[in-house]
Amino acid sequence: MSKLSPAEWKKQVIRQDEIDKYLINGKDFIDHQQIEKQLKDNRTPEKQQVRDIIAKAMEVQRLDPQETASLLHVTDPQLWAEMDEAALAIKRKVYDNRIVFFAPLYCANLCVNNCAYCGFKCENSQEKRRILTMDEVRKETEAVIAEGHKRMILVYGEHPESDADYMVESIKTAYDTRKKARNGWGNIRRVNINAAPMNAAELKKLWEAGIGTYQVFQETYHKDTYAAVHPPETLKGDYRWRLYALHRAMDAGIDDVAVGALFGLYDWRFEVMGLLHHTMDLEKQFGIGPHTISFPRLTPASGSPLSTNSQYLVNDTDFLKLVTVLRLSVPYTGMIVTARERAEIRRQAILRGCTQTDASTKIGIGGYTDALKKLDGYQETSQLEDEQQFMLGDTRSLDEVVRELAEMGMITSFCTAGYRCGRTGDRIMGMLKHCVEGKFCKLNAVLTYREFLDDFASPATKAIGEKIIKQELEDIDKYPFFQKNKELMATFRQEYQDILKGERDVYL
Ligand code: SAM
Ligand code: SF4
Repeated sequence: MSKLSPAEWKKQVIRQDEIDKYLINGKDFIDHQQIEKQLKDNRTPEKQQVRDIIAKAMEVQRLDPQETASLLHVTDPQLWAEMDEAALAIKRKVYDNRIVFFAPLYCANLCVNNCAYCGFKCENSQEKRRILTMDEVRKETEAVIAEGHKRMILVYGEHPESDADYMVESIKTAYDTRKKARNGWGNIRRVNINAAPMNAAELKKLWEAGIGTYQVFQETYHKDTYAAVHPPETLKGDYRWRLYALHRAMDAGIDDVAVGALFGLYDWRFEVMGLLHHTMDLEKQFGIGPHTISFPRLTPASGSPLSTNSQYLVNDTDFLKLVTVLRLSVPYTGMIVTARERAEIRRQAILRGCTQTDASTKIGIGGYTDALKKLDGYQETSQLEDEQQFMLGDTRSLDEVVRELAEMGMITSFCTAGYRCGRTGDRIMGMLKHCVEGKFCKLNAVLTYREFLDDFASPATKAIGEKIIKQELEDIDKYPFFQKNKELMATFRQEYQDILKGERDVYL
């Protein structure tokens, strides 16, 4: 852990040369005038033009900014219905009927920044500050494993006490934790992180610790708004340090990176364009775009009037529109909808092509263990609301959400094989673009779903889950792709039998 004061630490974090090396002719990739022109020039798209753009997206081709701007301005409800339908069809083509689940684990709410929208901001005196010890990280991880999760995303404020070394320790602790399940032991098989931008040397440490995806949200791509909500004297006040966080990560070897914007700070159409330009610049400079795109909506946070009174808060209708447009614009990228959203909106977002979501989520520091203590009638629970970053819209358990998805005909995948078999970065993107990964992962989804049903599911979830598995096995038998790969199928069938007999963590 760093011994520096926050002020000393701040001075040494930002490396100007690790920004400048990515600029092109001294410019970053967010050109306001250009984006505004793209939005203005495509305000009244023709019906046929929109249908041609949908057809291009259906071919799993990334749209260009003009095409995306056109979709953002569609007004005809019939065309929106066609776009929504296409969004789900693209998702099915690339990712099949799988949804991937993860659980966020908040490790620390100490923060040197003062973001106007966040409950963790340093000036929020209502916030009780806490950083988990490794013993607490282990206990929290055990509680997450007990729900049936296999993927976690560790989340940190930005502070010298929760620096890269602390992150490395917590990543390792999460990977090392085991918890008894109905059959054998459960564990976390992929640890992602959501943390502040770091320099290349720090990122390398995370990569060496076995990090899955590195997620940094730009919050807003609009520079004046960025400056208004992130005081310039704070670390986060440096727009370009954040804008190139993922470029540095790529250079450090972390090739699964995740972009996001916090919707509600500025005009939602502009932010969608920002996400697209970010994707395009990563593709241009590294040959691969982001692994996932996130689009959290601003949610009420303690000590943040902006979180409830921003003039740019996005309503449900526009939120679902932006989900559809993102799905069509970047057809091969994963899309994450979180428990910030209410159950109905999450369901609608999934029907517009989201690929990942969280459940049984607790965002208080120590929230999973505190919730268990509460269940036991233990009195000394911390004031969860005072340690949370913002309020959640959906607090259902993993079992409940898995069941709901099964009722919608979707299979939950707990697969982490891609990452452990080296199917990351450009390899996975290539497979997604050619719709191979979706089929390949169908097998791993079945294997991990089998584990979940046997180890964690309630009787009601197991009952409907068995129907989904039966359907999946029948589908697999029919697919020409699988019929051609006889060796792969023999291994799959053997592994499925092994899991039924109690073997765990087998994958293809
Ligand atoms: N401190 C790191 C940072 O700022 O990048 C990472 C952790 S921060 C807790 C994770 C994300 O939470 C932020 O990037 C922001 O988009 C989101 N967030 C902050 N305040 C929020 C709010 N009021 N509602 C919804 N999301 C919020
Ligand atoms: Fe700190 Fe991140 Fe919250 Fe900003 S968004 S106050 S950096 S935890």
